[in-house]
Order: sequence, then C-alpha cells, then structure tokens
Amino acid sequence: MLTLERTPSLDTSTPDTRPHAVVIGSGFGGLAGAIQLGAKGWRVTILETLDAPGGRAYVHQREGFTFDAGPTLITAPFLFEELWTLCGRRMSDDIDLRLVDPFYKLVFDDGEVITCHADPAAMAAEVARISPEDLAGYRRFMARSEEICKLGFEELGHVPFLSLGAMAAVAPDLVRLGGHRSVHGLVASYVKHPKLRVALSFHPLFVGGNPFDTTAVYCMISDFERRWGVHFPIGGTGALVKGLVSLIEGQGGRIRYGAEVSEILLDEGVQGRSRARGVRLAGGEEMAADLVVSNADAAFTYRKLVPARARKRWTDKRLDQAKYSMSLFVWYFGTRRRYPEVEHHTILLGPRYQGLIQDIFSAKGLPEDMSLYLHRPTATDPTLAPEGCDAFYVLSPVPHLDAGIDWAAVAEPYRQAISERLSQTLLPGLETELVTSFVTTPQDFQDRLSSIKGAAFSLAPTLLQSAWFRPTNRSEDIDGLYLVGAGTQPGAGLPGVLSSARILGALAPDADSVQRSAGHDPSLRASR
Ligand SMILES: Cc1cc2nc3c(=O)[nH]c(=O)nc-3n(C[C@H](O)[C@H](O)[C@H](O)COP(=O)(O)OP(=O)(O)OC[C@H]3O[C@@H](n4cnc5c(N)ncnc54)[C@H](O)[C@@H]3O)c2cc1C
Repeated sequence: MLTLERTPSLDTSTPDTRPHAVVIGSGFGGLAGAIQLGAKGWRVTILETLDAPGGRAYVHQREGFTFDAGPTLITAPFLFEELWTLCGRRMSDDIDLRLVDPFYKLVFDDGEVITCHADPAAMAAEVARISPEDLAGYRRFMARSEEICKLGFEELGHVPFLSLGAMAAVAPDLVRLGGHRSVHGLVASYVKHPKLRVALSFHPLFVGGNPFDTTAVYCMISDFERRWGVHFPIGGTGALVKGLVSLIEGQGGRIRYGAEVSEILLDEGVQGRSRARGVRLAGGEEMAADLVVSNADAAFTYRKLVPARARKRWTDKRLDQAKYSMSLFVWYFGTRRRYPEVEHHTILLGPRYQGLIQDIFSAKGLPEDMSLYLHRPTATDPTLAPEGCDAFYVLSPVPHLDAGIDWAAVAEPYRQAISERLSQTLLPGLETELVTSFVTTPQDFQDRLSSIKGAAFSLAPTLLQSAWFRPTNRSEDIDGLYLVGAGTQPGAGLPGVLSSARILGALAPDADSVQRSAGHDPSLRASR
C-alpha cells in the first residue's frame, strides 16, 4: 500500500504538489537537514520513532524538572543562526542564548582545579598558574588549533568528500597541520605539564573519540571554544530543538512521531544502481518520496534499512569491522536543594587518564574507576527546576555493548557508585537530597536510538573513519539517498551534524529542477 502524503502547504487551499522529501529521524541533523531542503523548495516529512523530536537531544520532563538528554555545550552558534536566516527569521527572536563563563572546571583526583575561561587573558593566566614554563607552548598550541580550525572546519568542514581524490587533494595540508597525529600527541608536543595535557586534549571525548587516537584535526574544538564561546539557551537545549521544529513548520514541513521506518524502498536504477523511492514504516505503511534523507545512525541505516544487495561500499563486513565510539552512562537527577557553588559544567577526573580511556575504548569490561562530566543547567537557567531545586545530569564514558556488560543488572550499583563519588566531592549529602532520578545506559542507546553497539556518537572519529572514509552525505551506492548526522561526514557533535545538513543543502537538487524534470508527477510517483 502506497499512500500519498499531503503535507499542508503554506496556502492550505491548494494541494501541495512540491516534490516530496522524507527525512528519517528528528535529531539535530534531521531537523537542520529538513530546513535546508525546505529552503530549496522541498515538501518535507520527517518520520521519527520517538514521541518527540531531538534524538540525543530529547527532553525529559519529570516532576517539574526539565532534563536535556544530551548536548549541553553549544559551540559555533552561527550554524544555528544560519538556519534561522534560511527561513528569513532571526534566531534571537526565538532563542535566548547565553555565554557560559567559565566554560567549565576540571577537578582532578587530587583536588586541583583548572578553570577554563572565556577570556583568553584569564585562560593564559590560569595556564601560567599551573605551569609557567608551559605558557609559551600553550600559546603556540592555540595558534596551531586556530590554523587547524581554519582549514579543517572553515574551509573543509562543509566540503563533501565524495571521492578519495577529493581527500588526497587536501591531505598535504592536513599533514602539515599535524592531522596525522592524535589530539593528545599534538598537545603533548606543545605542553609538558600532565594536567595541562589533560585539559587541552580531552575534547575528542565530546564527540566520542579517544584523545590518543583521534586525529589532531579535532584540536579545532579548542579554537571553537576560544573564538565562538560555549553557550547555553534559556529553556535548555530543548529550546533549540523547539525552535528548529517551528522553522520546519513555518516552511510547510511536517513531523510524524511514533513513525519508525523499517526499510528504505528502492527501484532498480540505471547501470545496476538502485534509486530510493520512499520508505516503509514498521506497521507496513509505505510512503513515496523523490528524495530520502536518513538521520538514523549511519551504520544502522545501511545495516538495517538498506537491503544488502544494494550496498557495494557499506557492506555488513565493512560495518562490522568499523570502530564505534564509546558509549555513555547518564544519570539524570533533581535535588530538593540548590548547590550554588557548583558551576554549570564540571569535569571530575578520576585517578587515571590514558589507562581509563584505553580500558573504555578497548570495550573489555566496566572499569572500576571513572571520570565524570556534571551538568548543572540551573546554574544558568533556574526555571529548569522547581523553585529552590537543582536539575543535574552526570555522565560517565563507558564501553559500548561489545564489552558484554549486563546493564540491567549493573545500572543501579553503578549509579550508586557515581552518587557516592559526587557526595564525597561536589554534592555533599546527595543521596538524601534526591527528588527524581533516572538513567540512560548503552543498552538504551541501542534500543531507543537504534545506535549500533549502543555507541553514543556512532562511528569513532579516527583518521581512517574521517572525511572520505566516513559515510558520505550523498549515498555512494543509492541514488536519491542522502545521510546526515553524527555517523556521516564530517562527524559527531552539534557543529558536525549541522555541517552535515549544510552539505546536504549543497548536494540536494532544487525542488524546482526536480519538478521541471521530465515526467515528474508526485501523484503518479505515489501511486506506483
Ligand atoms: C549525553 C550526550 C551529551 C552530548 N553532549 C554534547 C555537547 O555538549 N555538545 C555537542 O556538540 N554534542 C554533544 N553530544 C553529541 C550530539 O548530541 C550528537 O552528536 C548529535 O545530537 C547527534 O545528532 P544526529 O543528527 O546524529 O541525530 P540523533 O540525535 O542521533 O537522532 C537520530 C534520530 O533518528 C531517530 N531514528 C533512528 N532510527 C529511526 C527509524 N528507523 N525511523 C525513524 N526514526 C529513527 C531516532 O529516534 C533519533 O531521534 C552529546 C551526546 C550525548 C549522547
């Protein structure tokens, strides 16, 4: 059964006959991708399994507390602004984005604290306080990260690497900037103090990468923070999700929740290539489309939604051999009291750095020690919790599901261990102050978000899984199929997934040209 989706056009008196694009998933990549397509004249339908938008940025409401499930550090806000501009609107009319300063505090196991400031002079003073002899090296490192950011993000971050040749052309520049080294390797070549090496190298963990084998191109994150700051919207990250949904609706686009896609439907195309013609939903309903975009995990998209016979590049074997990012254990909780001395973002490090990271990425079991990131959004927006209360989440990087951990059994003892650690350090008496509490485990990343191996950030950002080596935004194997989101080029994290949507905007044809092309008739397509 094929149904013709008639999305209300802006003028509801006439049927909307614009070419139809289906977007699978409403993560930030899917939402931004829908806006890019809407701006090119497409009639867009987003199909989302969950009951609300956002994906990893889903919003949980519990007993008067608002918990953003995922992203909390908003960098490169101009990428959001661009989406508002595409719709002829201003982001500031809808979103109150605040600079968070200090960006975050790193608390080491021996109690020493490094505060990362927005003001470059204050940051340099902090570096000098820790290790005066490293100040010059720190400055040279920041200059290098600026160069890397200019090339890796500003020049190449929105370039579709559709061929190995395109990548080979920029390889010499990437090597010149140290892209063949790891983030930690590059940092260590500039500063000696072990704590500064941690403070300048942990950023790949934000995008699911191991600092000891993630390409040093990711040193660009240090420059992102310095140049554009770390921000948080009033209302939480969910305010950005809501804002993007309102842009899509303003373009005449539509989102269907509880709509899980089970297959991307293909036509046999020219020269043995298949062409996407629509999708089938889990209940059996089929929906025709002139163009399909998947924002579901890229590895899941190929493994589960595209029949194996149509895949030459992303075969099951290649996907099985790929390296997946680590996962996360996230504990969301609300307290009946406030902890005003706790910053918005705190990183609480354990006794080990490299050893812990290696244990997590080798996925051999659950390490006994832990490093934590504590989010206290009510430091910036107290309305996210009832009066006099604080909302928190704490996340612990953990191995993905290959480690064979039985999360149903381990989740509560692990939560208690985290609670104890927080009670002893930042949040005294925590366990008796709890009002609401729930967790997300690697199993949930797999079961709820269809993430292969429960990886929190999809394919790991190693050198051999970056640029052309990562799934391209226009499918290599299937015409009319595009991919956006963390597992595609350029990679995970909000700047990465918004950039993937930007690339989609550049690669997808204008709806007009599709409409003009011989034989386009959406009603015929739909009834095929
Ligand atoms: C806890 C956590 C904290 C993070 N913190 C930060 C941060 O501070 N800053 C930052 O920049 N990044 C952060 N990240 C990373 C960032 O959140 C992600 O890289 C980004 O949100 C991923 O977006 P995406 O477009 O890939 O889609 P996702 O968020 O992965 O969404 C994909 C959507 O597709 C839907 N879907 C999947 N399969 C189907 C199907 N078959 N049919 C229909 N729908 C389907 C899913 O339900 C989901 O809604 C964090 C991630 C996590 C998990």
